[in-house]
Amino acid sequence: MDRTFEGGCACGAVRYRLESTPFDAGWCHCRTCQLNSGSPAMVFASVPAGHLVWTKGGDRVKSFASSSFGHRSFCGDCGTPFLMQVDHQPETVDFSVATLDEPGAVAPSYHIFVASRIAWFDTRDELPRHDKFRPDTRGLEGTEPPA
Ligand SMILES: [Zn+2]
Ligand SMILES: [Zn+2]
Repeated sequence: MDRTFEGGCACGAVRYRLESTPFDAGWCHCRTCQLNSGSPAMVFASVPAGHLVWTKGGDRVKSFASSSFGHRSFCGDCGTPFLMQVDHQPETVDFSVATLDEPGAVAPSYHIFVASRIAWFDTRDELPRHDKFRPDTRGLEGTEPPA
């Protein structure tokens, strides 16, 4: 890794650092992401489990069951969403790219759950668009929102 990746929440209570370069960044337009963020969509990227390390306020991080197979974690003080973890992929965690100090460094390469995209929201790109999960997503039927 030839650079550092750090991020945090809106109120500053929680800070984190990545121990490796994030991969597999993509847009998610599912309803859970819309409700979790209060925005039309979120961009997540992955790191191996344990490679997102809380450097400040780790005890302030709260989580909730966002589906029957996943949890999401957020700053318990200001609500900034940080993480999505799903039972069928325990070796990785997905984090919200927008919470990085330099989010422009991690660009999304696809869209998922375009079937629940808000009608007035779209991005100006030619990236692959999948109605639900990508075809190679492991361990799911592809019918439920991604946690
Ligand atoms: Zn906060
Ligand atoms: Zn989503």
